[in-house]
Amino acid sequence: MTKPMPAVFFGHGNPMNALLDNSYTRGWAAIGQEVPRPSAVLSVSAHWYISGTSVTTMTTPRTIHDFGGFPPELYRVEYPAPGDPALADRVRSLLAPISVDPDGDWGLDHGTWTVLRHVFPGADIPVVQLAIDKRQPAKFHFDAGKRLSPLRDEGVLIVGSGNLVHNLHAYAWGERAVEPYDWAVRFEDKARELLLTGNDGPLIAYETLGRDATLSIPTPDHYLPLLYVIALRRESDAIRFPVEGVDGGSVSMLAVRLG
Ligand code: ZN
Repeated sequence: MTKPMPAVFFGHGNPMNALLDNSYTRGWAAIGQEVPRPSAVLSVSAHWYISGTSVTTMTTPRTIHDFGGFPPELYRVEYPAPGDPALADRVRSLLAPISVDPDGDWGLDHGTWTVLRHVFPGADIPVVQLAIDKRQPAKFHFDAGKRLSPLRDEGVLIVGSGNLVHNLHAYAWGERAVEPYDWAVRFEDKARELLLTGNDGPLIAYETLGRDATLSIPTPDHYLPLLYVIALRRESDAIRFPVEGVDGGSVSMLAVRLG
């Protein structure tokens, strides 16, 4: 039996990472070289956070520049990976009885392409995005992730893209390197410990983890993609943190790789 594909949570951080060469983007590129070449990528991005579950079904997803106030060169970046309608169908059947709307409008948002541009720079691996239903509790997303597990045996690389700690009120935009906030460091340490011991319960019930969690996860959108990834964990999977660091004091760039 072939080994299941790994699954990876990426901390995407600042959209400018798409154009930068730094320790985060070099770490992403290394992941792309280390994992077996997937047949397709299924991406759960923090930036497709809507009232419902949808999956992209188009053959040529557009590159969405879903941000404001960045330099013109960032708006010129295209990530022309093809879509994969057959994978979209497979996702819909695996997630049943959750009703998944086929989507022909969205495409690849910056949660997906700013990272994949470094992971798979050839843009020649099909990419499908799965939306996060913002009306649903954390457990729903963990359970949905579990249903996607067979894809790991079908050559599909499932990725979550968000940030474990994501507090933009505290973020030092454009400042020189700043020290991480103590609450960000504490919450990341706690999450790493829970991840390493496979203690998913408190990660799902993150709101019970106190003030550090509240400051680190002021809104769930950037955290929930992590739950899709950890739900895919199997006993034989090693857990690694191939990218580390806290950007701007309050955005954890931690990547979590299973398998
Ligand atoms: Zn983001």
